[in-house]
Amino acid sequence: MDVPFCTCDDLTCPYNPVNHDRGCVPCIAKNLREHEIPTCLFNAVSPDKLPEDADDWSWGSFARHVQAHPRASARS
Ligand code: SF4
Repeated sequence: MDVPFCTCDDLTCPYNPVNHDRGCVPCIAKNLREHEIPTCLFNAVSPDKLPEDADDWSWGSFARHVQAHPRASARS
C-alpha cells in the first residue's frame, strides 16, 4: 500500500507499507508492542540520529533525538 508520508527507507522490514496492504497499522502495532517510535517521527524531527542511538528506536532514544534537535522540534 502506498503511504505517501512514510519516510522509512527500510524496505526489507515486513511492517513497511511497501510490503503489505495495511498501511501504517502493522508498523504502529509493532512499535507499541516494543515500546518504540516509528521512523517517520524520528525523521520528522531530523533524519540525523545520534551515533549512539543509530539502531535504537526506543522512547528514550526519541527523547534524546528531540533534545538533540531543538530547533526542528520547535517548528509549528
Ligand atoms: S507509522 Fe510506520 S509505516 Fe506509517 S508512516 Fe510512519 S514509519 Fe511509515
